[in-house]
Amino acid sequence: MLISVIVPCYNEEESIPLFFQEMEKVKGQFAGRHQFEYIFVNDGSNDRTLDVLRELSASHPTVQYFSFSRNFGKEAALYAGLREAQGDWVTVMDVDLQDPPELLLEMAQLLENNADLDCVGCRRVSRDGEPPIRSFFAKQFYSLINKISDVEMVDGARDFRLMRRPMVTAILDVTEYNRFSKGIFAWVGFKTEYLTYKNVERVAGETSWSFWSLFKYSIEGIVNFSEVPLSIATFAGILFCLLAFAGGAFIIFKTLVFGDPVAGWPSMTVIMLFLGGLQLLSLGIIGKYLGKVFMETKKRPVYIIKERSQPRK
Ligand code: UDP
Ligand code: MG
Repeated sequence: MLISVIVPCYNEEESIPLFFQEMEKVKGQFAGRHQFEYIFVNDGSNDRTLDVLRELSASHPTVQYFSFSRNFGKEAALYAGLREAQGDWVTVMDVDLQDPPELLLEMAQLLENNADLDCVGCRRVSRDGEPPIRSFFAKQFYSLINKISDVEMVDGARDFRLMRRPMVTAILDVTEYNRFSKGIFAWVGFKTEYLTYKNVERVAGETSWSFWSLFKYSIEGIVNFSEVPLSIATFAGILFCLLAFAGGAFIIFKTLVFGDPVAGWPSMTVIMLFLGGLQLLSLGIIGKYLGKVFMETKKRPVYIIKERSQPRK
């Protein structure tokens, strides 16, 4: 079996050598049972990542790299890697060693022993070393998305997984521009089993995700895999119409029976503000989806490759 290892890298000059060293150790433990090819994707880094990759590729025939013309994001890097991978089995790994390479041994074993298994994924069961507030919101995100979307996203599941070729082909057939890989992995189906492990902190460098970027990423996930927010406006609209009818009937009744001594403007303002806010919110939701449609219809490429390693024979 040829196993392709796809590694997206964004400003990872320090982590790449450490990652490669660890991976080579793991490769040794496979004792020649499988061949490996590495596909590093330089996602428009502005440190020495590209130089490091050039050197690595020059000295190791199993290492290939692609370099984007700018930062396109991890999703684009993953997609590029999947498209270029030649392997019968394909794995996707973070370069910061947060996806422990030694798990690959166990993953490969599972695939070898279960012919009907298509994919072995990894799940963090702890989030040690992560700010508690981030873990809290991550949990809320998974419970929400699993309620309002048809695809089942596993809490704590990483992108780290070992897939057979048919699943890779299926993922490549999903050619949408707005890529939310966690959703796509779940959406294509196939039989997946999860290994669990405790969170590992990154070896070097810094995470490129701030709280705000994670928040935006979770909105991407929801908008790409659920249409429920679109119906919020409809339901709120119906609810407020009913309330308005009830309120109107009540006012008519009250005026007829008791007359109309004072007119209350504060309650009026509050109601107007509330309804105005709700309308803007609904418009915003619709706008978000419309924006997605806009980007999809442009059919822009997901990434642009500026430089690649020499093709190998
Ligand atoms: N990454 C990337 N492009 C980006 C951001 C990140 O290719 O725009 C890569 C990064 O080099 C790493 C992986 O994606 O290999 C995960 O990134 P990070 O460790 O920053 O995320 P975290 O583990 O904190 O979720
Ligand atoms: Mg990381």
